[in-house]
Amino acid sequence: MPTTAPVEAPRSGPAPEAAIDAEVLELGRRLARRRPSVRNLSRVANDRMMALVARDPQLRAALFRLVDVAPACADADELAAHLDAFLSDVEHHSPPVALAARASTARGARHATGRIGFAAVRQMAGRFIVGETPASAAPALRRLWERGSAISVDLLGEATVTHDEGRAYADRCDETLVTLAAAAQQWPARPLLERDSAGVLPRVNLSVKVTALTPLIRAEAPERGRADAADHLRRLLRRARDVGAHLHIDMESMDSRDLILELVLELLSEPEFKAGPSAGIVLQAYLRDSEETLDGILDWAGAADRAVPLAIRLVKGAYWDHETIEALQNGWVPPVYTEKVESDRCYERITRRLIDVHPLVRPAIASHNLRSVAHAVVYARRAGLATHDLELQVLRGLGDDLQDALAAEGLRGRTYCPVGDMVAGMAYLVRRLLENTSNDSFLASRTGGAALDPLLIRP
Ligand SMILES: Cc1cc2nc3c(=O)[nH]c(=O)nc-3n(C[C@H](O)[C@H](O)[C@H](O)COP(=O)(O)OP(=O)(O)OC[C@H]3O[C@@H](n4cnc5c(N)ncnc54)[C@H](O)[C@@H]3O)c2cc1C
Repeated sequence: MPTTAPVEAPRSGPAPEAAIDAEVLELGRRLARRRPSVRNLSRVANDRMMALVARDPQLRAALFRLVDVAPACADADELAAHLDAFLSDVEHHSPPVALAARASTARGARHATGRIGFAAVRQMAGRFIVGETPASAAPALRRLWERGSAISVDLLGEATVTHDEGRAYADRCDETLVTLAAAAQQWPARPLLERDSAGVLPRVNLSVKVTALTPLIRAEAPERGRADAADHLRRLLRRARDVGAHLHIDMESMDSRDLILELVLELLSEPEFKAGPSAGIVLQAYLRDSEETLDGILDWAGAADRAVPLAIRLVKGAYWDHETIEALQNGWVPPVYTEKVESDRCYERITRRLIDVHPLVRPAIASHNLRSVAHAVVYARRAGLATHDLELQVLRGLGDDLQDALAAEGLRGRTYCPVGDMVAGMAYLVRRLLENTSNDSFLASRTGGAALDPLLIRP
């Protein structure tokens, strides 16, 4: 298994695009072949459900409504009644849907159907969420680590509308850092996951949402929450530094993007954080101005004089519908690209820049798209980066197979692991289902049975 040695011969000059494409195709096919051949039954059922939902927009709408109401239902009968109402809106029933629709109306079967519906929603949520609390999630996090994946924990929560909720979220983050730092000491050594050329990669990695730290970051006046969020973030940065953890700041919609970026870079520049902790931010390639945003971040990184390089998680962006609808409503030009291929191309341009500027920042490529991932790996190899200098990130529940394939390939991966209860998890679950069943999504194309090779060609 490759470890941390430089990978093969570095190229001497820019390689022809055709050679890169050929290697991407080869690696993409190999990663796809590494998909596990044996799966447990519930996972198979879950995958089938996703494929069914991906093909049928009405069923998709019914499922989202079911997921939405499930946590609030008093009992199984109430859930079955909702299921019946939602399924009655679906015009053409496939055999399993027809069966569920009949059962949800039949008097004797209604209770059982409600229970099954509830169990199905819970099971689907369990696919994405590692545990209800950090302590109960710790064994699953350890198993991931043992299988060759580092982790980043995300504490799920409902929208923060009061100061107390913001403080409670900060308290939970703080406790999580302490709890996981203690648990991670018992994990076995995994050299590939623990060090890159810049130094130590903390075992504990927490992803934080700034809008959950304060109720004051609102679309109409994002600046109001700045001081409030800064206080909570400072406390978390201190804790992360003290327990040797990494703090990663997630990126949300455009409403808060500039404020979050400025705030985080400003805090990391403060003298008390010069020596640590390890920290990171997220760049969204679907934003038309993402490349200029990167210019600013790299200027900051060049001047910051911090001991630990900033990690940059490159994503396409999870708020495409929100950004597009908001822009339409206000008569603005959408801040996001409107063609999927434009986001894919921008993703590859930024991937290359992050690799080209290494070791100024630590690149983390977060995607389930085999083309995007294989392109990053091939480009990094050709640029002479050591294997441990490129991080590849996936979401728990959506990227598990890819993560196993990456580990088998000897690459360094990290799984983003949501932690929380079922109620807190519903908004997250709906976002992930939306993403995984949208027609433009790589994963939906694959579960829908699309051939692999056309998906691996240059965007
Ligand atoms: C570990 C991890 C952490 C993440 N953290 C964040 C985060 O902090 N913030 C965040 O916003 N997202 C985050 N995401 C989600 C991410 O932004 C993507 O939504 C998700 O990964 C799907 O992109 P993909 O490359 O995997 O799949 P693909 O199927 O290749 O891409 C789907 C993406 O393409 C874009 N897209 C879809 N349709 C169009 C269109 N018509 N025009 C232009 N672009 C389009 C959207 O961004 C969509 O999500 C994270 C993802 C991962 C794996």
